[in-house]
Amino acid sequence: MPYSDPANTRAAMRRYYARHRERILARQRVQRDPKRARQRRREREAWVRAQKGTTCSGCGRTFAPQALSWHHRDPATKRFNPSQANRGQEALLAEMAKCDVLCTACHRQAHPAVVRPRDEQGRFTAWLSENR
Ligand SMILES: [Zn+2]
Repeated sequence: MPYSDPANTRAAMRRYYARHRERILARQRVQRDPKRARQRRREREAWVRAQKGTTCSGCGRTFAPQALSWHHRDPATKRFNPSQANRGQEALLAEMAKCDVLCTACHRQAHPAVVRPRDEQGRFTAWLSENR
């Protein structure tokens, strides 16, 4: 409930915290527990893999999940890689809807090869930062 004076809002928040401090701190201990975070990450990753399926939508062959990638049909709409994102299921499903699942070979073909310029030492030059 906002007050017209922000100082009153802050005072109300302080009163709320003072009244519920123990419950708030106990919830934070659970939420920030590294074991719990690890477990939830593993569950999310397994769920993302399950959404992927096992079939390449390019060649139609069957692959292990680690050989399949999320390919954004329009790179301009890409916000994140569903396999690496710590997001809720709704955001992940929205991102997956912009993607095809492709095997490594089909994914390489979907991204045309580019000859990257090298400097005198043979290192790739600014190509990466310019072409992301
Ligand atoms: Zn394929």
